[in-house]
Amino acid sequence: MRIEADLDRCVGAGQCVLTAPTLFDQNDEDGRVVVLVTEVDDSAIAAAREAVHVCPSGALSLVDDR
Ligand code: SF4
Repeated sequence: MRIEADLDRCVGAGQCVLTAPTLFDQNDEDGRVVVLVTEVDDSAIAAAREAVHVCPSGALSLVDDR
């Protein structure tokens, strides 16, 4: 699964970073999301799904490339 972030929708709320700090960080300048891990393996999918769920702006999505 691949994590996609729509930076135009991201409002820098940081919920993704609080939820999954190994997968996300925030840009120092404007607080928008930085995706640290683009391709998530099975061990990280639950955390990635939770981050997508808590994002208030719908900026995150999980894409299945298979
Ligand atoms: S939770 Fe959503 S809006 Fe907030 S920083 Fe992460 S991607 Fe951006």
